[in-house]
Amino acid sequence: MAPWPSSPAQIQQKAVDMAQLTESVVELIEQFAKLPGIGRKSAERLAYHVLRVSEMEALALADAIRNVKENVRHCDVCYNLAEHELCSICQDRSRNATQLCVVEQPRDLMALEQAGVYRGYYHVLLGRVAPLEGVGPEQLTIDALVTRVREGEFQEVILATNPTTEGDGTALLISNLLSELPARVTRLARGITAGSVLEFTNKEILADALSGRQQF
Ligand SMILES: [Zn+2]
Repeated sequence: MAPWPSSPAQIQQKAVDMAQLTESVVELIEQFAKLPGIGRKSAERLAYHVLRVSEMEALALADAIRNVKENVRHCDVCYNLAEHELCSICQDRSRNATQLCVVEQPRDLMALEQAGVYRGYYHVLLGRVAPLEGVGPEQLTIDALVTRVREGEFQEVILATNPTTEGDGTALLISNLLSELPARVTRLARGITAGSVLEFTNKEILADALSGRQQF
């Protein structure tokens, strides 16, 4: 068998003629091409990469995908990603049990965790209310959130949905549902990015920054 092409020029040349490829290679390219942000050319490059690496390395990728699909689930309490009933954050009893931060997706939770400032618990909505896409409140974990706040000892619920029309709408809906409960409902501050200057900040961000101003 001829060695697989390694230089970009060779790959380019090889990529043109799909008829030369075996069924399995075509299938692999098609699977890669379904990934977000991966065009046809990138998919071909990835497939050639898989063909070039050792069997062990290639199967480690396949196993990692299988493991994620077989083992990862949503936490029973907060709906974060977990491998057991509870995610690592809900298992951590040293966190501040009076604060609950509501986010749209597990990746938002990860971003906040990486900021390293917040030490309370989370609730992942698994989306946002988006009427145009047919996503209503009942498809999210809002009922579980309200029950959690009603039955828990949270003193503050921080709404950290994205600063988009849908994220804001979702936050408003939740704040209405929680209004009867004693917990204080807050929204993430937003405004001017650190390191930027006023004259180059767009007017929506400036308006947000002004309305969300704090005591000096
Ligand atoms: Zn959890």
